[in-house]
Amino acid sequence: MKTVFFAGRVSDMTKPTDTTKKTVKRAGATPLLREKEQILREVFENSPIPTFVIDKKHRVIYWNRALEAMSGLRASEVIGSRDHWKVFYHEHRPTIADLIVDERHNEIPHWYLGKCNKSKWIEDAYEATDFFPALEGGGRWLRFTASALKNAGGVIAGVVETLEDITDRKLAEDALRESEARYRTLSVTDSLTGLYNSRYFYDQMQLEIERAERYGHPLSLLLLDIDNFKRFNDTYGHLEGDEVLIRLGQVIRRCLRTTDSAYRFGGEEFTIVLPETAGDAAIILAERIREEFANENFHPVESPKIVHETVSIGVAEYLPREGLRPFIKRADFNMYGAKEQGKNRVYYQPA
Ligand code: GH3
Ligand code: MG
Ligand code: MG
Repeated sequence: MKTVFFAGRVSDMTKPTDTTKKTVKRAGATPLLREKEQILREVFENSPIPTFVIDKKHRVIYWNRALEAMSGLRASEVIGSRDHWKVFYHEHRPTIADLIVDERHNEIPHWYLGKCNKSKWIEDAYEATDFFPALEGGGRWLRFTASALKNAGGVIAGVVETLEDITDRKLAEDALRESEARYRTLSVTDSLTGLYNSRYFYDQMQLEIERAERYGHPLSLLLLDIDNFKRFNDTYGHLEGDEVLIRLGQVIRRCLRTTDSAYRFGGEEFTIVLPETAGDAAIILAERIREEFANENFHPVESPKIVHETVSIGVAEYLPREGLRPFIKRADFNMYGAKEQGKNRVYYQPA
């Protein structure tokens, strides 16, 4: 069937044809050939896939009903012209059909970089996906295919291009991707402070330890615990306590460098992972956080005056082959060292 179609039409391709005319009478064509041609014309016209064909001279020779509906251009307006590009682009440029008909295959990457692949089924055919700003409603996403039509001698005499509007699918995929990303973010985030949660802390620590081991680079960990927080909660209530946790989260975020990451480790305990950072530098950052937090003013409803809160911070630098848990334990131990020394301080005891 395909062979008959190409043999029948391609021999005639230089003559512009209006596909809206349903009957074809050609001198010399046998009744059988005419009937087959008529069937193919019906297939083309009734296919719900928007399709057009250009000849060797880039003139539109077919433009089916589905494409009339998609483009808003009637076949009678476009057939015989070289205006097919106007449906897709604001500026004059070759469509993929134009590139194929001229056998300018090497230019396809220039016009459709990363958007176009060779058909895995037939030669001289391509499949592509792109966004077309010129199409209605602020642009549409189209999946399109273009395939060379060859005459009996195997020479390219035209190109058939099909188009499929995939905008709705694309938007649904984008929405799904966004909601997956949102879910991924939520699953690693502490909802109160906006910092990462403890599950993510363990994952990231494992990665950072592997990196530190592999490259022999330093890695430090801060463990923070709010001082006398039970008393604060008991005095001003849990909601005011939550405000303190939120505020400590903000202070930490303000002080972090881009490679650092902060986590709510437990109730009123936080951790900060400092890659490429030795203990001495970690102390400086810890001290800044401690001081900034101590300067925060709290105004609990129950309190006539401003209240201050403080934090104790333990610092540890990773020891080669130490492993995750002993490393965290040392940071925790040092945090207790800060508490023992009177709280509101940074404690670091190099191993
Ligand atoms: P220390 O200086 O030794 O750390 O004393 P502390 O009172 O901070 O320590 P303790 O472990 O006795 O109390 C921790 C308190 O943290 C108890 C708990 O009510 C409070 N806490 C834990 N999670 C939350 C939370 O999500 N919100 C509030 N408001 N309080 C919390
Ligand atoms: Mg605690
Ligand atoms: Mg505490």
